Amino acid sequence: MKQTDIIILGAGLTGLTCAHYLNKKNLDFLLVDKQSRIGGVIRTHKEKGFVYENGPNTGIISHPEVADLFNDLKEYMALEIANEKSDKRYVLKKGKWHALPSGLFSGISTPLFSWKDKFRLLGEPFRPPGKNPDENLADMVRRRMGVSFLNYAVDPFILGIYAGDPAQLVTRYALPKLYNLEQDYGSFIGGSIRIKRPENVSEAKKATRKTFSVKGGLSGLVESLQQSIGASKCLLGVENIVIEQADGGYLLKGTDSNGDPVEIKTKKIVSTVGAYAIRSLFPFFDADHLANAENLHYTRVIEVAVGFNEWKGRPLDAFGALIPHLEKRDILGIMFMSSLFEGRCPENGALVTIFIGGVRRQDLCDLNDAQVRELVERELKDLLVLDDFNPDLFRIMRHSHAIPQYRAESKQRYESIDALQNKYPGLILAGNIRDGIGMADRIKQGKTIAEGL
Ligand SMILES: Cc1cc2nc3c(=O)[nH]c(=O)nc-3n(C[C@H](O)[C@H](O)[C@H](O)COP(=O)(O)OP(=O)(O)OC[C@H]3O[C@@H](n4cnc5c(N)ncnc54)[C@H](O)[C@@H]3O)c2cc1C
Repeated sequence: MKQTDIIILGAGLTGLTCAHYLNKKNLDFLLVDKQSRIGGVIRTHKEKGFVYENGPNTGIISHPEVADLFNDLKEYMALEIANEKSDKRYVLKKGKWHALPSGLFSGISTPLFSWKDKFRLLGEPFRPPGKNPDENLADMVRRRMGVSFLNYAVDPFILGIYAGDPAQLVTRYALPKLYNLEQDYGSFIGGSIRIKRPENVSEAKKATRKTFSVKGGLSGLVESLQQSIGASKCLLGVENIVIEQADGGYLLKGTDSNGDPVEIKTKKIVSTVGAYAIRSLFPFFDADHLANAENLHYTRVIEVAVGFNEWKGRPLDAFGALIPHLEKRDILGIMFMSSLFEGRCPENGALVTIFIGGVRRQDLCDLNDAQVRELVERELKDLLVLDDFNPDLFRIMRHSHAIPQYRAESKQRYESIDALQNKYPGLILAGNIRDGIGMADRIKQGKTIAEGL
């Protein structure tokens, strides 16, 4: 039987980040995962001269913790910031692409929003803040900004992040910064202008909000974390894991790849697995709290990487293109990956990533590969103005537990997580069951937990 002070369950970005900072503190820990590889949902493939992601494609440096982590890892990998010339986001309206406005003039002239809502926006700072803490995002945006902003700004934005539905997401959990702007300052616009100067300005400035990847793809990030931690601290391929309470701490039981038993005694456990894995790992949780803690819906999505050795379609002069639900198309959006980052495709070629499915189009996730190909061909020929569709790379990647949706049940989930952590000293329930779904949130959470241990 092995013994360690801390077990981290799950070697995705959250678990790896936590492990990295525990390692820096010279604490005794083991990082355990059922898969034989690290990285969780982060995985880059290299094939036929293309570099494409199977999972997240880009992150945002939205917390100082992200900048700190990249700084720590610079001897192992090179951070890559997206090409600023490709900053534009297109949104489809009535079959035409329009750039999402980035300033006052484009905000006034854009056909994405109605004149009524543009005028109405002038009154946004004077509208009273909402009183329902569990108000959904669609209601909040309709109330403060108007329906055209909901349909042609917030809806495509939420499709891009959550593959979700603003009417199902509770703002307080899904977009806490937006919720706090209204609660603390009474307005989105007023709040953005008056937001308090952070106490530590130089620290806050590290959160540049730039779009990041890593040279050669995001696998470089998780592989660098593994290198910095050291392979001996990572116990991979441990299946059938069950945690028991033992001697004031915990006992992890599982089996290795030969079917031989693995047992590790520990004082503390940090779980970073998804909600769907909690039940099998912690059978001693009481039924009510367990039901609440695992009550988190993960939407399915299909991700398709499409590469062309020679690009003959419309210019890919943007981050990508988002497609509001109202447009009734069969894809959620297209990311122009080869415009964002170097070396993702052969010279003169192009690499795009398409997302299909999400909360409102789960039916499309049941399509077989031939049907997905037919759908992508139809949509890309039209949307990217292609006469023929003969890609040199076409890869379909299916994600059964892609993006968690922070919906109305989040309140009970957060309360039950707190109750379980109080009841079982040394247990931390983390990962994307709380505190945000993006890579930046995962890095921040992993670091914060390690600092508290
Ligand atoms: C398709 C897709 C696109 C995304 N796009 C973006 C994006 O563009 N930008 C962005 O910022 N974020 C994006 N995200 C979200 C981001 O990738 C995740 O938030 C982040 O990578 C999750 O890291 P994690 O460590 O919390 O979880 P995971 O990566 O899910 O890791 C959890 C780990 O737990 C392990 N595990 C599960 N069950 C058990 C068990 N029973 N026993 C032991 N181990 C177990 C798993 O094997 C896995 O390694 C995307 C996610 C997906 C799926």
